[in-house]
Amino acid sequence: MKNNCPICDAFSKEKIIYETRDFFVINAKTKKGHKQRYMFCSMQHVPHNPFDYQRLLIAVQTGLHLFKTDFVVFNGIYASIKQHWHVILSDRFFQDEVVDITKEPRIEVFR
Ligand SMILES: [Zn+2]
Repeated sequence: MKNNCPICDAFSKEKIIYETRDFFVINAKTKKGHKQRYMFCSMQHVPHNPFDYQRLLIAVQTGLHLFKTDFVVFNGIYASIKQHWHVILSDRFFQDEVVDITKEPRIEVFR
């Protein structure tokens, strides 16, 4: 964990929803009308790569524990924090979501 990184900072300050050796989950800062919207973050300090399919797959597996409903893993191609790998896990209620984010490449899981 490094200083001056918003995700490392969140790990020490926010409520941890779920944690493994390699990953942790916190509530996303803005819910954007969703009931469940989380940040799924690498514990390791690695740069964000939206096409890291191994980590995206683990995000899907974790989503299966966190959601009883359909859910979405956004790959974070527009992520503003580039220095620490993370993606958004969200339910599929998009009523208040801005249109742009629904265009973001994502993995949709139907329960
Ligand atoms: Zn960090």
